[in-house]
Amino acid sequence: MPHYDGKVRLRASGDDQNWSLSLLEDTSAADLRTSAYLGSVRRYHVPMPPSPARSDFPKVKVSPRGVSRLKSGHVWVYRSDVLDADGIPPGSLIAVTDQRGKPLGTALYSSSSQIAIRMISHEPVPDFPALLRRRIADAIAYREKLVRDTDAYRLIFSEADFLPGLIVDRYNDILSLQILTQAIDANPVRETVISELVNQLSPASVIERVDPRVRELETLPPRASGLVHGDKTATTFTMNGVQFHFDALEGQKTGAFLDQRENYAAAAEYAHGKALDVFCYQGGFALHLARVCDQVTGVDSSRPALEVADQNAALNRREIEWIEANAFDLLKDYAASSQQYDTVVLDPPAFAKTKRDLDSALRGYKELNLRALKMLRPGGVLVTCSCSYHVNESSFLEMLGSAALDAHRTLRLLEVRGQGKDHPVLLNVPETAYLKCVIGHVT
Ligand code: SAH
Repeated sequence: MPHYDGKVRLRASGDDQNWSLSLLEDTSAADLRTSAYLGSVRRYHVPMPPSPARSDFPKVKVSPRGVSRLKSGHVWVYRSDVLDADGIPPGSLIAVTDQRGKPLGTALYSSSSQIAIRMISHEPVPDFPALLRRRIADAIAYREKLVRDTDAYRLIFSEADFLPGLIVDRYNDILSLQILTQAIDANPVRETVISELVNQLSPASVIERVDPRVRELETLPPRASGLVHGDKTATTFTMNGVQFHFDALEGQKTGAFLDQRENYAAAAEYAHGKALDVFCYQGGFALHLARVCDQVTGVDSSRPALEVADQNAALNRREIEWIEANAFDLLKDYAASSQQYDTVVLDPPAFAKTKRDLDSALRGYKELNLRALKMLRPGGVLVTCSCSYHVNESSFLEMLGSAALDAHRTLRLLEVRGQGKDHPVLLNVPETAYLKCVIGHVT
C-alpha cells in the first residue's frame, strides 16, 4: 500500500466527524453512519415489568413554542420549551400537554439532553412493550418491501422509524444495535427490543455498539460494547453484488456506510475509465467502480480502514490501489501535477457538526470539489457527497456551482440523491435528511 507523505492540514477522523440524529443539537455528535466497536461480552436478563396504566405517566407541560413545533409535525421539544419537569425520572414515558393541560400525546423524556422530549405517539400508550414490538415489526416490513439487492441495511432509524434513540443495522446474519436515549436504555425496554429482534429475525448474533460520549450526554452509566445475543462476531455481507467483510472483534472498528448503498449503484451507472475514490474508508465506492472502470485508486487517511478495503478487494478479486493520505494535500498535489481522471468520488466526513461550522465547512467542500473538477477530463463524472445535516441540499449545490465556475468547468447534473431508503426521511423532521450525493457530468 503506497504511503503518501503529505502534511496533515485538516485532521478529521471518520468516527469523530459523523453526525447524530438524536444528539444533533448536543455539542458532541455521535456517529450514526457507521462502525461497531466491541468490548467485552455482556448479557442481560431483566424481566419486563407491566407497563403503567395511562394515568401513571407523569404529565409534562410544554410552552406555546413547543406546542407549535409539535403541531408542525416535529417530534422533539427542547428543554427551553419544557415548563415543568421537576422530579420526572430520567427516561420516563410522559404524557405531554399544552400549558392548559390539553393532551398532546405520549413521549420519552430525557433528563439531560437538550432534546428533552421525543414524541412516540399522539395517543396514550397503555402498553409500551406492545407498541415497541409493533414498531419493530413495521420497520422490518418497510425494509422487506423497499430494500433490494443487499443483506446489509439499516433496519431501524430512530425517529424516522418512530423509535427515537434506537438504531439497528443488519450485516447479513449479525445485527448491530445502538441505543442513544435514556428511555430506550432502560433495562426492560432494551430487553424487549433485543428479544423482539431475535424473535423476528433469528440473527446469529446481536452486538451492542456503545458510544461513550452518548452515554455521558444522557448521563447513563458507562457500559462496554459487546455481544448481547449469540457468539458470532464476524461475517461477510453483499450489497449490489459486491462483498464486504464485517468483523466486530474486540477493539476493531468496522461497519459500513450503509446510507450510501443506493448511491454506490448509481455511481457505477456513470463511472468509467480511470477512477479516484477520495475518502474511501473500506472501499464502498471503489469496489463498485472497479466493476466498470479500467483503473481504481482509493484514498483515505485511516490505515485500518484501508486494510479492510484491501481485504474487501481480495474478496471480490479486484485490483485496486489504496493510498493512505490526507485527501486535501493529495488532491492539491495531484491537481498541481495535472493528474487526470475520468471519475472522481468525494465522500468526506461531516465538516459541519454545528450551525456555527457552516461557513468553514462550505469552504472545505469547495476546495475539494474545485480540485476534483480540475482533475476531471471532459466527459468525466463527479460523484460528490456531504453527510453534514447543517449543509442543506441547496447550499451544497450552490457551493458546487461556484466551484465549477472557479474551475472553469461546466457541470451537468445527472442525479441529485440522498440517503438510501433504509434511512427514511420524515418530511416534517428535517434532521432526518442529512446525506447529499450529487452525480454530475463535467465538460
Ligand atoms: N466513502 C466511504 C465513507 C467515507 S467516511 C464509504 O462509502 O464507505 C469518511 C472517511 O474519510 C473516513 O474513512 C475517514 O477515515 C476519512 N478521512 C477523514 N479525514 C480525512 C482526510 N483529511 N484525508 C483523507 N481521509 C480522511
